[in-house]
Amino acid sequence: MAPSFDLTGRRALVTGSSRGLGLAMASALAGAGASIVLNARDEVALGAAAADLAATGADVHALAFDVTSEESVTDAVMHCEKEIGPIDILINNAGIQIRGPLEDFAFDKFELMLSTHVVSTFAVSKAVAKGMIGRGHGKIINICSVLSSAARPNVAPYGAAKAAVANLTRGMAADWAPRGLNINAIAPGYFKTELNKALIADPKFNDWVEQRTPQGRWGEVEELGGAAVFLASPASNFINGHVLYVDGGFTAVV
Ligand code: NDP
Repeated sequence: MAPSFDLTGRRALVTGSSRGLGLAMASALAGAGASIVLNARDEVALGAAAADLAATGADVHALAFDVTSEESVTDAVMHCEKEIGPIDILINNAGIQIRGPLEDFAFDKFELMLSTHVVSTFAVSKAVAKGMIGRGHGKIINICSVLSSAARPNVAPYGAAKAAVANLTRGMAADWAPRGLNINAIAPGYFKTELNKALIADPKFNDWVEQRTPQGRWGEVEELGGAAVFLASPASNFINGHVLYVDGGFTAVV
């Protein structure tokens, strides 16, 4: 029998999905039949993204909250489960980038990197996993990076956070796979989004990405959709604690 990538009847919460990779993955899940809950802090941008996605025929709700606030996360997930419906799929995607030399990197900015990427992944997953465990199934996808397993100058705090997200993914699988959940990660290569605005504007960096990536180019945001649908669907039911690189071959070569 052909494996099922069908998400009909499933509901997905995608954090940080008013634009960029989060919105692209949410659109892909909607295309596979899932109902979508979009999230970000900026309510206006979130509302616009939700309206655009709904215009394609998708079932979409918008839920504005800050993933770094435990109270907001708990309230939002409770509200969602009560008023919208159970969450079957969670993508922990919200993220930021702060670049700078490590010797001058401010303590509070380092903490913000950890809080936005690592603590938030724990907090949102903890809030959502309670319901998933009760129902005996659920798919959690954490967003890592090629910097989960390698370093570059000026982004050490980001790399530290993304490496932690990779091992948090394995830890979640250790705790929650026995309860019926699948927890995996996607590690994207270089994609042209708002987060990389400064890099896209730098011709030297563009050349480096094109030469360093075996496929010779940046990724298109839509190219993350296949991995997201796969890890959210029954087709990946025996995959747990895995980090799937979607990077045009970047991490396969030196
Ligand atoms: P964008 O900057 O385009 O989008 C980030 C999204 O996250 C926005 O919707 C933003 O909305 C939201 N967000 C940021 N902080 C918070 C917060 N505290 N609470 C809730 N939402 C938040 O980034 P990308 O799409 O490029 O990145 C998405 C994820 O992919 C990140 O985790 C990033 O680290 C990762 N990634 C990206 C790569 C790339 O090449 N682009 C490569 C590897 C990983 P708002 O500001 O309104 O809250």
